[in-house]
Amino acid sequence: MGEGELKDLFKEAMSRFAAGVTVVSARHGEEERGMTATAFMSLSLEPPLVALGIWQGAKVLPLLEAAQAFAVSLLREGQEGVSEHFAGRPRDGVGLTAGRVEGALAVLRCRLEAVYPGGDHRLVVGRVEALELGEMGPPLVYFARGYRRLVWPS
Ligand SMILES: Cc1cc2nc3c(=O)[nH]c(=O)nc-3n(C[C@H](O)[C@H](O)[C@H](O)COP(=O)(O)OP(=O)(O)OC[C@H]3O[C@@H](n4cnc5c(N)ncnc54)[C@H](O)[C@@H]3O)c2cc1C
Repeated sequence: MGEGELKDLFKEAMSRFAAGVTVVSARHGEEERGMTATAFMSLSLEPPLVALGIWQGAKVLPLLEAAQAFAVSLLREGQEGVSEHFAGRPRDGVGLTAGRVEGALAVLRCRLEAVYPGGDHRLVVGRVEALELGEMGPPLVYFARGYRRLVWPS
């Protein structure tokens, strides 16, 4: 299989993996940034760790490294505009409040534990130090290159 064909098939296969949508955010000094990410996972319970795959050129990356801390907001259904905004397609009135996305399903406040190389991305590991739970409800889901709804309960 040629490299181009493998890459296309890789992207197509990965588009078939359903994922929740998060916004990873960090502040250092006066600068604060957020970025939409689906490459998020719960990594460990003892200690509580999460991991994110973040593109090496993302502006949030040097910020979270400098701050040694970041937050992850788990988006709920209806927050498509928030996701689009923090993916580089700005929407009016969208921003961060107290370092996180307001109205998210949950927010994890993390201390930076490690950053590992991962091709053109970095695997960012955070130790969860504080949590905020919003009202329970359906999540924002990304699948097959679009936002989807979870049938809940199935
Ligand atoms: C569904 C989806 C999933 C994605 N998953 C991943 C993933 O897992 N990993 C990954 O690396 N990329 C992922 N991306 C791509 C990623 O979101 C974009 O490449 C990224 O936003 C670009 O970041 P940047 O550093 O270039 O831009 P930035 O300029 O840092 O930020 C992107 C946008 O957020 C706005 N913004 C940033 N900070 C603030 C602030 N404090 N207040 C208000 N607005 C602000 C900016 O104006 C800009 O429009 C995903 C994109 C989508 C749509």
